[in-house]
Amino acid sequence: MTDSAVIVGAGVIGLATAYRLASDGLQVTVVDAAAESGSGASIHNAGWIVPIMSAPVPAPGMLGKAIRWMLKKDSPLYVRPSPNPEHVRFMLAMLRHCNPKDFHHGVEALTSLNERTTSLFDAYEQESVRFEQHRTGQLLAFQTMEGMREYQAATAPVERIGHTAVPLSGDEVRDLEPALGPQVRSGLHCAKERHVDPVSLVRGLEARCQELGVRFRHNSRVSDIRSRGGAATSILAGGEEVHGDLFILAAGAHTGRLARLAGCPLPIQPGKGYGFDDITNSVKLRHSVYLGEAKVAVTPLSDRLRLAGTMEFGSSDATIDPHRVRGIARAARDFLPGFAPTQQPRAWTGHRPMTPDGLPAIGPLPGKDNVLVASGHSMLGVTLAPITADIISATVKGGGHAAELATTAHAFAPRRFT
Ligand SMILES: Cc1cc2nc3c(=O)[nH]c(=O)nc-3n(C[C@H](O)[C@H](O)[C@H](O)COP(=O)(O)OP(=O)(O)OC[C@H]3O[C@@H](n4cnc5c(N)ncnc54)[C@H](O)[C@@H]3O)c2cc1C
Repeated sequence: MTDSAVIVGAGVIGLATAYRLASDGLQVTVVDAAAESGSGASIHNAGWIVPIMSAPVPAPGMLGKAIRWMLKKDSPLYVRPSPNPEHVRFMLAMLRHCNPKDFHHGVEALTSLNERTTSLFDAYEQESVRFEQHRTGQLLAFQTMEGMREYQAATAPVERIGHTAVPLSGDEVRDLEPALGPQVRSGLHCAKERHVDPVSLVRGLEARCQELGVRFRHNSRVSDIRSRGGAATSILAGGEEVHGDLFILAAGAHTGRLARLAGCPLPIQPGKGYGFDDITNSVKLRHSVYLGEAKVAVTPLSDRLRLAGTMEFGSSDATIDPHRVRGIARAARDFLPGFAPTQQPRAWTGHRPMTPDGLPAIGPLPGKDNVLVASGHSMLGVTLAPITADIISATVKGGGHAAELATTAHAFAPRRFT
């Protein structure tokens, strides 16, 4: 019988899970190393809710791009040379997944996982989770036709869940978003995609959790997971022992290390991203806009324009590499000629929890019946937070809904790594 759950990680995944389990009637405690919820990747992202982007990061051709881009300090993808054996093993495993078969499998699995994403975000609003959500669609802008076609190929399988990417000429793109400049030659319009203010989503989920009686223990880094036989009994958080019937590891890019404490390490490594907010709103946009070749996300929020991008492997710290930030700003000026913030924006970083096959790890940790994992969501953690919570809830409750979700969840079982 499961009465209490301890969730490690107050990011969007941990909070969505806490909210769902508390709604199910469990007594939930959320433990986080940081002083505030969301301080990891969950407030440092573009806030896109994008089932249309149901594609894993490891893709055919990624190796060639990575090698070319390694020579450019402001490139969108960078693999930092590091002798760390975990990093080397991870990169080699990821390269093995850069083939058409695994990519296709990943697109299909993520598409199924995203089937109810937008309805689950609607449900949040109906259940009084207060956050800023925009249903204005997404526009992908490309400076070349090849860029658009390459991208479009990965969106075709997602049509089966009702998310479409309609090809546009450069002029049609500018009709929808006049701020985009003459270099834009083609685009894709994804009418059903949405975006949120990620800070408001974290705060909204946290507030609902508090209303439901969830206890929060901030400034409490988990340093040990204690077990008796095949079950975990407690965690050591900030030097204090916290007991529970069930433990959920949702510590973002740190989840692999925590899983090791529970006896089963998982290959989850950080994929560092950068961003900044233009509070002067120097460019007005209606849609969220993807600057295709530069791989930069631009998100118009009620009080600021957010820019985010780059994927850096091999860096786990929060240092800001000015070249990467300049790369994002340069891309913005290339695509959006009016982009000229009148105040110097402050850059931030976030670490995406990455797995070698580009798919999240959701479900029981092998060898420990009462430890579940909810991590590895890579570039889609905001998008996939509600369905991840749903799968965890169904796993805990069992019954019909669990059986319904079992086929979808199978591809994400952490045991695939062991
Ligand atoms: C630049 C960028 C843009 C992105 N854009 C999007 C987007 O548009 N749409 C989208 O869907 N996704 C996007 N993502 C991805 C998304 O942000 C992540 O997938 C998601 O935030 C991961 O959430 P999380 O809860 O797993 O991890 P995190 O938010 O990182 O939370 C993990 C938490 O665990 C805590 N923790 C870690 N170790 C311990 C420990 N030992 N003890 C206690 N607590 C611990 C941390 O303090 C942290 O609060 C983007 C990411 C980046 C970096």
